[in-house]
Amino acid sequence: MTVQLDIVAATPAASVRPASDEDGRMDLVGRDRDGLAEVLRAAGVPDRQIKMRVAQLWHWLYLRGATSIDDMTNVSRELRARLAEVAQLAEPKIVDEQISVDGTRKWLFRFPARGAGRPVEVETVYIPEEGRGTLCVSSQVGCTLNCSFCHTGTQRLVRNLTAGEILQQILAARTRLGDLPGQAPATGAIVPTEGRLVSNIVMMGMGEPLYNFDAVKQALLIASDGDGVGLSKRRITLSTSGVVPMIPRAGDEIGVMLAISLHAVRDEIRDELVPLNKRYPIAELLDACRAYPGLSNARRITFEYVMLAGVNDSPADARELVRLLKGIPAKINLIPFNPWPGSAYDCSDWETIETFAEIVNRAGYASPIRTPRGRDISAACGQLKSASEKLRASARRQAAAAE
Ligand code: SAH
Ligand code: SF4
Repeated sequence: MTVQLDIVAATPAASVRPASDEDGRMDLVGRDRDGLAEVLRAAGVPDRQIKMRVAQLWHWLYLRGATSIDDMTNVSRELRARLAEVAQLAEPKIVDEQISVDGTRKWLFRFPARGAGRPVEVETVYIPEEGRGTLCVSSQVGCTLNCSFCHTGTQRLVRNLTAGEILQQILAARTRLGDLPGQAPATGAIVPTEGRLVSNIVMMGMGEPLYNFDAVKQALLIASDGDGVGLSKRRITLSTSGVVPMIPRAGDEIGVMLAISLHAVRDEIRDELVPLNKRYPIAELLDACRAYPGLSNARRITFEYVMLAGVNDSPADARELVRLLKGIPAKINLIPFNPWPGSAYDCSDWETIETFAEIVNRAGYASPIRTPRGRDISAACGQLKSASEKLRASARRQAAAAE
């Protein structure tokens, strides 16, 4: 591992509008139809052709996962040349790819510098399961919130990802997996047997998606558009640590499934685990959940609960959890804590988790324990990037020792 990590300074958050890169060319990926029309006008396309050309670009970018303007073979050579003058279609660089024995894959993607910033790296994890494949996508580089059990919380926010960078994680993963229509599988890619490999998306990578609302919204609306990636909103889940004022907007404007990182049933404990709780305590958070637009038994909210030994894992906690969630169409996800070097917690032992799960189970919540995946490559969502930093730190130490 040769690349150094670039989390050194906070740079201004990127805007939603896909920015231009250093040479002034506009990014194509991340643009909605109006944004693509703008690019086409800049390339000199006459108004009467715009709608048709937008549809062509949309198809190449978001359905076929084109990685170069030259891939767009039904666009004339001349127009491709004009497009390339004003716009660009840059793939993220794959800095690292790890494949777990259980099939879980983790990529470290590198995106180019924006403005005065440096290139950034984010991790994206693919988790294949029986009948579905879930992609865990990042929304920010680092995080402004400092949840005490989360490794990302120890890294400061470098910047928001743009809508294009969020989408690129999905498109690049599909390309690597050979999950694009008509695509010959890339070397080493899994050949799809039936259906699609990336069938679900969870915004559970690095960062707090509701603190990068506009870019996340734009990316998820494009990902759920029927003419492109085409994933149903029922198969996309946005996880938040509880940014209460943005929860109604997430429901109204994005309309995807919601997951809440609850993790504790008492404010004193949640204040410590998820410090945002001091601003938006449990009662307010649950009120926002009750009012979540579109909530129904078919569209339940997932409550995530990380199992921390001796902190939040007693039978009394489990009973209180059940009581708190009464009346909210909910799923409960018990997550075995994934320790990281320097973390102040231990994962609850298996018996404690099972006792907790049994109480939750008896209250009518089915199979609530999330099976750890990709442990050998530290691929757990919420723990992205930490392992690569570790690997790089050890590579640096080895390099230093060799000198
Ligand atoms: N910021 C958002 C989404 C990213 S975190 C949020 O907090 O919801 C995704 C999930 O991973 C959250 O439920 C988070 O609490 C959990 N998580 C973070 N660190 C973890 C760890 N070390 N072990 C287990 N789960 C963790
Ligand atoms: Fe940020 Fe979520 Fe980690 Fe909290 S759990 S620090 S909100 S990424």
